[in-house]
Amino acid sequence: MFRAIWDNIKGIYSLLVGMAVTWDFFFSPRYTIHYPRKVVERENLENYRGPLELTRGKKEQDQTRCISCQLCVKACPGHCLKVTKGKESKSPESWLYDFSLCCLCGACVEVCPTGALAFSHKVYMVTTTREALILDLLKDLKERVAETPLLVEAPDSTASQEPSAAVVKEA
Ligand code: SF4
Ligand code: SF4
Repeated sequence: MFRAIWDNIKGIYSLLVGMAVTWDFFFSPRYTIHYPRKVVERENLENYRGPLELTRGKKEQDQTRCISCQLCVKACPGHCLKVTKGKESKSPESWLYDFSLCCLCGACVEVCPTGALAFSHKVYMVTTTREALILDLLKDLKERVAETPLLVEAPDSTASQEPSAAVVKEA
């Protein structure tokens, strides 16, 4: 008898706690968006790990900081990276990244001695073929710089350096 009463009290208490949480969240700001009508704002992507990109050069933005040392290639557990050193200099002549194999662990970003790698904030990357996920990062760097040159260099090389303007779009 007492046991049944106590169970009912506990049940009602649990219900009230659940209702209080629901009520609280009902009036809180929403943390989700209705895609594709809206997209996530840039400031909410600061810690987001999108596919890798090469950071912009310190002097010439469309030149990579990579010195083809291969440390990232050796550190990568997924064998996603292929860096081919140029014949004339240390700069790579080809920089390929297979995003389909990448687990976004960050080992390559951490090991790079020149800060040449960063995670991008590309959150809406879509493709129907695996081949399209093999990314040419040198080409990507040049395209980004041509599209949005930076006036001030981003100090943190482990974060994407892309300008914040590129971001908030509503369809
Ligand atoms: S984030 Fe990890 S898995 Fe992806 S390329 Fe870098 S080291 Fe490889
Ligand atoms: S670790 Fe950095 S400098 Fe070395 S090959 Fe990779 S990206 Fe280039």
